[in-house]
Amino acid sequence: MSYTRPQVLVVGAGSAGVAAAIAAAETGAATLLVEATGHVGGTLARQLLEHSAGFHDAAGNQATGGVGQRIITLLQEYGGSPGHIPDDTAYTATRTPVNHAELSMCEAILLRRAGVRLLLSTPVVGVAADAGVIREVSTETPGAGRTTIEPTVVVDCSGDAVVFHLAGAAIQTDGAAATQPTSLLLKVGGVDFDPLLRYAAANPGDFRSGGRVGSPDDDHVNLWGFGDLLAKGHADGRLSWRRTELHLAGWPTRGEAVLNLTRTAADPDRRRGEAYLVLAEQVMEAVSWFRDYVPGGRRAYLAEVADRVGVRESRRIAGLATLTRQDVAGGRRHAQSVGLGAFPIDVHDAHSPGLSHTDAVAAAYDIPYGILVARDFANLLAGGRCVSTTHEANGSARITATCFTTGEAAGCAAALTALGGHDARSLDAAVLQARLRTRGVIGAR
Ligand SMILES: Cc1cc2nc3c(=O)[nH]c(=O)nc-3n(C[C@H](O)[C@H](O)[C@H](O)COP(=O)(O)OP(=O)(O)OC[C@H]3O[C@@H](n4cnc5c(N)ncnc54)[C@H](O)[C@@H]3O)c2cc1C
Repeated sequence: MSYTRPQVLVVGAGSAGVAAAIAAAETGAATLLVEATGHVGGTLARQLLEHSAGFHDAAGNQATGGVGQRIITLLQEYGGSPGHIPDDTAYTATRTPVNHAELSMCEAILLRRAGVRLLLSTPVVGVAADAGVIREVSTETPGAGRTTIEPTVVVDCSGDAVVFHLAGAAIQTDGAAATQPTSLLLKVGGVDFDPLLRYAAANPGDFRSGGRVGSPDDDHVNLWGFGDLLAKGHADGRLSWRRTELHLAGWPTRGEAVLNLTRTAADPDRRRGEAYLVLAEQVMEAVSWFRDYVPGGRRAYLAEVADRVGVRESRRIAGLATLTRQDVAGGRRHAQSVGLGAFPIDVHDAHSPGLSHTDAVAAAYDIPYGILVARDFANLLAGGRCVSTTHEANGSARITATCFTTGEAAGCAAALTALGGHDARSLDAAVLQARLRTRGVIGAR
């Protein structure tokens, strides 16, 4: 397979891009995956997320199968995940903790088995299009300089809809004011979970709980609270920003915990460096506060920081269809469904210390094919957090399990488009749905 003339080019090797590339290659297309950084795994692996979420609906029915499930199964075989476990906070039915480094390795193993070609440290910097067709995609690296790729079909899994933006395709943004805040997740080591979990059990009013706080023998615990200790830290001048809750995802037997606490409003397009400088100071304050205020934290040290500023929301494509809050909250069915989403609508407010709002999603909703497809190009699709949704619907669809699903559907559709010489906008949805069902995708009716 040529590196410069793939049938399917996938841009971005995060959750969606990995699933898209595997699905495209396994559907029979010569597939190239291009990633700007030196790593596979994207935000889930490199932003050190607390856990992969969204695999099940509120009733505990599985919503994400396919490549997403295959990645978790392989990771479990290697001991890198306990699999889908109950969510102690009762926010969702299940959550899926992953060892971040092992997740990246397992995704790489599956990419290789599928026959995907991979270019790392290779950002996409330009797109040439005419007559509604993407003709060329350019990358730029210090070693190779500018390289031109001539793909048959492109799947944009960059999170930021980079290909759509460079091509001048229709996109949606809400303006910096409405955009969710950026964060830098951190991992502390040296945590003694015995006193930590005893504190949580003794202060039930300060923690979201489904009636269980976890034990030091558990593989993984999920704590969402610490409001009193945060308030003290803020009043004492030890935390310069105000938060009402800390999300702590911990591996008790390893003494490690991921802390989701930092946040700053930032224009995610231009100001990631500025956000990093603010968040870095918050990281150091958070570790110091954790040592001095949190039971079991005395010997804690900063073990790892996310390798990128975590962006919850930036550009989204304007697709053939757009997923709305009503679709998500109402569990709406769709004739062209290519999979299911099930996570609550979870929108963080950049300017308040908590979530701006969350809406429960009682039953899984259908993901229509049209939210993956460019309106104005014949050979351009998207998967992951930049698919075509409203701001609120994105609060659910951006979750990693759903990104695996939209990535897999977009990759499979791209391969069928390329192999059949079709226009992606008029692809026979029934053919795509049948193919996705054989791949184990749930809800591709
Ligand atoms: C702070 C924070 C906490 C979160 N917590 C959770 C959680 O606990 N559980 C959960 O499931 N979800 C969580 N999310 C949401 C979730 O992480 C993301 O929405 C999801 O990972 C997005 O996946 P993706 O595949 O669309 O994009 P990403 O995983 O971000 O992948 C995009 C990839 O594209 C690459 N790329 C970008 N531009 C280019 C370019 N020009 N050329 C080539 N490559 C490019 C990037 O380097 C990256 O690897 C959280 C998000 C944030 C920010």
